[in-house]
Amino acid sequence: MDTARQSADTEHVKVSGQPAAAARNDGDCSCSFEVVEPALQKADPFDRQPRKEYLSWEDYFMAVAFLSAQRSKDPNKQVGACIVSPDKIILGIGYNGFPRGCSDYKLPWSRQAHSGDPLDTKYPYVCHAELNAILNKNVASLNGAAIYVTMFPCCECAKLLIQAGIREVVFFEDKAAPVRPASAPLSGIRPEALYAASRRLLAMAGVRVRQHRLERPLMLRIGC
Ligand SMILES: [Zn+2]
Repeated sequence: MDTARQSADTEHVKVSGQPAAAARNDGDCSCSFEVVEPALQKADPFDRQPRKEYLSWEDYFMAVAFLSAQRSKDPNKQVGACIVSPDKIILGIGYNGFPRGCSDYKLPWSRQAHSGDPLDTKYPYVCHAELNAILNKNVASLNGAAIYVTMFPCCECAKLLIQAGIREVVFFEDKAAPVRPASAPLSGIRPEALYAASRRLLAMAGVRVRQHRLERPLMLRIGC
């Protein structure tokens, strides 16, 4: 089932502050969306005070990235990205998917192929979330912006982020120690080397990098 439709059908989505040990997908994904019962909250109509449970900016942008990831058709890994200006305006969002016009049903979503041919896997075809967020920008320049991503960017995306002028990367899931060694079959480079290269490039370019864990579990109620 389409993951976006799945989310809409279930109506209630929770974003946990910690990567879920038992995510909905297999072990490749630490995305922690899950269905929860809504907590009914009724405000005192005479209360003059502002609501205290509002989202912090940090959690807000990371949650937007997680929600965007739910648009992904990738059964193994859903990644979302949200680019933000220095004055907290969202400039672009994206998720991992095939290019426009390239069918989700004709290209493979598999991570490995029985044929052994990398062309029978998703890797040569997928546009990463960071790429799509950059291309979806609603301003002329992303210079000085930050990007919130659900997973630490690969080295190819690091190059794009640097060249786009993005000055800060805020990630949720670290990729310092990838679980699966076969996640980059086309490059011929070990996955850990891809992320080490990413860190090296970002550091060399002076891009700030930091991990953000949500400050508290978040629940998104839709339609009720
Ligand atoms: Zn990437």
